[in-house]
Amino acid sequence: MRVFEIIDKIRRRPGFYIGDLSLTNLFAYLADDSLRPETNVLDSKEFYQFHSWLSKKFGTCSTQNDLAKKIESQRKEKKEALLYFFELVDEYRGIQHRVLGRIRYHKKTNNDFSSPKHFGLKKISKKVKHFSNFHPAFFLIRKLSLRKKVYEFVVLNQLEEIVHTKSGKRLFDVLMYGEEAFGIDSSEWTEQYRSIPINKKAPCFSYPILRNEHPDKAIKIGEVTSPIAHMVSILNWEIDYEDYEEFIKTPQDTGRYHDAIAILKLKEEMEKSLVLGENMHFPQNEYVPFFASRLLFSGKFMKIFCDKCKEEYVPGEPKISTWSRGSGLAVYAGRTMDCPKGHTLYSIREWNT
Ligand SMILES: [Zn+2]
Repeated sequence: MRVFEIIDKIRRRPGFYIGDLSLTNLFAYLADDSLRPETNVLDSKEFYQFHSWLSKKFGTCSTQNDLAKKIESQRKEKKEALLYFFELVDEYRGIQHRVLGRIRYHKKTNNDFSSPKHFGLKKISKKVKHFSNFHPAFFLIRKLSLRKKVYEFVVLNQLEEIVHTKSGKRLFDVLMYGEEAFGIDSSEWTEQYRSIPINKKAPCFSYPILRNEHPDKAIKIGEVTSPIAHMVSILNWEIDYEDYEEFIKTPQDTGRYHDAIAILKLKEEMEKSLVLGENMHFPQNEYVPFFASRLLFSGKFMKIFCDKCKEEYVPGEPKISTWSRGSGLAVYAGRTMDCPKGHTLYSIREWNT
């Protein structure tokens, strides 16, 4: 294994490999031949070239100890310097990770950063180590562009410096971490498309409205037009969350396999049209209405056509209402969108008990 592969492996669970999070500990681990079948990887040509690159960036560092000190002087905490080092490794290799979502720290999130569940701190002799300098400003979820699939929950300070990370094999794991450690509701991430502005010239997609899950309302066939960029944002998120890239490795006669192929193809077509600036029309595609209903109910559409009154409406004109059926243990509910004259345009079932 080469030095960067080892570093990539360590960064997924640094505490497990090196104990206290610091560059000195990382270098000590990398230099210790007894821990791995490889010889000291810090003596490799690969690391030597990286060391030279760092020396150009931070000034000459003759030894690895110098190097650790220089990088540590860039950050307040040793742990932050280690996280910065991982970013430098990426920068050197020209690796950019895909950011799936970004949200600003807000008061709603849990403020008690002294709790041991934050940052995976351990209680030592009944005392919790405090990070007094810890002021989160932003949270990110990103997919690391490494050989193995890994998602990372990232905490940034006001200067956009990484102060904490937590990685997981599944998107679900890091979402749950965000919820437990910082009180971030999963929906805050999945509704990232809300922040994308609607550009009047943006390429759009349209499709007939046929989705009706209301138990006693009939829908009028109409058409809805939404910006492609918003739908791509939803699909990107969904593909990672449901792990469709894993599903395409499953047997080809499963429903999951077919869903995965169809959704990845849909995303590819939409991204192509987005780049070319072309509009798209889907006469029939079961996946489009399924994912686009979120855009409809959050007002992220350009126009909706009611076939009964032969009129086009813009966001704000149609009326959205909720409905529910059943009682006790068997309640189900959803939302309905009616045109201003009362024709039902769209209706979905969203909740079950
Ligand atoms: Zn109407």
